Amino acid sequence: MSNHFLDTPIEFLKGVGPNRSEVLKKELKIFTFRDLLFHFPFRYEDRTKIYKIKEIGSEQYHIQLIGKIEKLETVGIGKAKRITAVFSDETGKIELVWFKGLKWIKNSIKTGVPYIIYGKPSLFQKYFNIVHPEMEELKEDTLKNLSGFQSVYSTTEKLSAKGFTSRGIFKLQRILCLQLQGKVQEYLPYPVLKSYQLISLEQALINIHLPHSNDELAKARLRLKFDELFLLQLKILKEKGLKNEFVKGFIFTRIGEYFNAFYNQFLPFELTNAQKRVLKEIRKDTATGKQMNRLLQGDVGSGKTMVAFMSILMALDNGFQACFMAPTEILASQHFETIKQLAAPLSISVALLTGSTKKAERNNLLKDLAEGNLQIIIGTHALIEDTVVFKNLGLVIVDEQHRFGVEQRARLWKKNTSAPHVLVMTATPIPRTLAMTFYGDLDTSIIDELPPGRKEIKTQHFYESARLKVFGFIEQQVKLGRQIYIVYPLIDESEKMDLQHLMKGYDTILVRFPPPNFIISIVHGKLKPIDKEYQMQLFVTGKAQIMVATTVIEVGVNVPNASVMIIENAERFGLSQLHQLRGRVGRGAEQSYCILLTGNKLTSEAKQRIETMTRTNDGFEIAEVDLKLRGPGDIQGTQQSGLINFRIADLRKDSSILNMARNAAQDLLKCDSDLNQTEHLELKKQLFRIYKETNDWSRIS
Ligand code: ADP
Ligand code: MG
Repeated sequence: MSNHFLDTPIEFLKGVGPNRSEVLKKELKIFTFRDLLFHFPFRYEDRTKIYKIKEIGSEQYHIQLIGKIEKLETVGIGKAKRITAVFSDETGKIELVWFKGLKWIKNSIKTGVPYIIYGKPSLFQKYFNIVHPEMEELKEDTLKNLSGFQSVYSTTEKLSAKGFTSRGIFKLQRILCLQLQGKVQEYLPYPVLKSYQLISLEQALINIHLPHSNDELAKARLRLKFDELFLLQLKILKEKGLKNEFVKGFIFTRIGEYFNAFYNQFLPFELTNAQKRVLKEIRKDTATGKQMNRLLQGDVGSGKTMVAFMSILMALDNGFQACFMAPTEILASQHFETIKQLAAPLSISVALLTGSTKKAERNNLLKDLAEGNLQIIIGTHALIEDTVVFKNLGLVIVDEQHRFGVEQRARLWKKNTSAPHVLVMTATPIPRTLAMTFYGDLDTSIIDELPPGRKEIKTQHFYESARLKVFGFIEQQVKLGRQIYIVYPLIDESEKMDLQHLMKGYDTILVRFPPPNFIISIVHGKLKPIDKEYQMQLFVTGKAQIMVATTVIEVGVNVPNASVMIIENAERFGLSQLHQLRGRVGRGAEQSYCILLTGNKLTSEAKQRIETMTRTNDGFEIAEVDLKLRGPGDIQGTQQSGLINFRIADLRKDSSILNMARNAAQDLLKCDSDLNQTEHLELKKQLFRIYKETNDWSRIS
């Protein structure tokens, strides 16, 4: 769309001019005709209805009136200075008031001529007035142009002061759209337009601003949303293709002794079919010479660790080292314990490196790693530090990836002359639309099956008033020999209130379940590491029946005997966090329970979260609801990506358009991977125009 008309500086548009263009540039980054056209309305109003002044009954929503200004005067001084006007039609009078942009109002509003005005009436000292109404002089064709849909634009006080109210912007759009015919270069190839039944870009731009019907509006939206998603998919897939072409991976030529010995002699259980399938996918990646970039999604408890371990064995069998990175010390040491045990009969060397590894031990460990005497290293962010040098790192496993920034992963990636294979594991399922957008450059594997024999966790919601009943249930479960988690929100470690809340809860529990019959452990972020460890061990070893904790236990604690998860103030947790917490139970053979305790007053969103939790255990379904409730901007891990700035597409609602866009992009690249054919040149230019400034994220994971 490199076309001169759209590149025209905005000051040249009739009704703008050099002076007023400044505020458009400053406030809306509108520099050219194109920028203005891409400032889409954010909603539409029915502007066909015109009210009479006597119809204004109580305070109501925005209405439209036609009448004349009888009198315009400036009143008050200083901050109270304002302009008031008497506005009348044949049925009555109301007052109009302006506090801002007085000079402009005074110079441009005329008395005695008909205006169509729009605003929200409010009652002020027994009379109705409208503050800052939108004003438009009633001309011959004004009423004709009142389409059923009035586009509403976002604006700011500074803009309004210069006359760029929503209506003012609409007027500019109309002026521009009327000149648009034949001026917008199409960049989508004809076959794409045809197979997805898309209207031309020119038509879409006109219709998005001046729709005459729902149908026109829908078609314009479809086209413009498609464009955003299609261009992004093209970019992602193109780069993925490039990466596969140019970044060579180590070839794991063989399945060797470690893998076979483990599989045949030491595997503690039969793998699930899903685990087998994922291992095959990993095997296939690592055997082909391309660098693996794989995202492994599997619900809590689906057995990702075993998949990770067996992939590590593949690397080791080919003479490589492997590293395994976890987001917290607790989780890292838990993985270390698990993997050490699994590796023991194979005489594989494994070490743990975290922030609290002692200096002497650390130095030894780093030396072993650099010389190749250490095969597996497990740890936290500490692994990223530059002092950590490998002899030949062949595989990187990153657990719970949303807690690591893309750049942190990139630093691991650079620890080798050639890129190691990367397996990213997450227990927070990412809705497909997001995965396709944010991890579109990663291949995805899904473990969609839990190990056999697991009982569905039963989830119930109670109001706080039912606490005694819940305590009774705890007692009953403890008598059966089970262990209980009670979790309190601690959103921010510095929030004193939360900590007090937790301590109060702890005291209540101590009173209801007194020692020595009961032992209660308590864990929160303010504890010293050594105390935390002690309290954790109390519970892990089974000495404590109840653990009172904050979300520090969200990831990683594995106590199969724990069968009840009680979440206090459950309304304060997000869905994915609730689901993660619930995943701490249901790991043994016993029936497990999750109890959500909330206050009596719940927002409708909180209600939906609680309802979702009690309805389903399916992490993917929960992730979809989460996306709908919160929008993609809040889903962990997406903020950093910088790809979210859609003007019109909405990943919550547009998954089917995204699928179309994805397919279209794939088909196109299949026959012209570099977009070098002449009929794709405009598209290539557009792609470059849009993405030249954004970072190249896809290269680094
Ligand atoms: P997650 O996917 O949450 O990391 P884990 O790897 O911690 O899950 O596995 C959860 C539990 O299930 C562990 O105790 C693990 O030993 C066990 N497990 C994993 N795979 C199987 C399987 N195929 N059959 C039985 N138990 C399994
Ligand atoms: Mg895990």
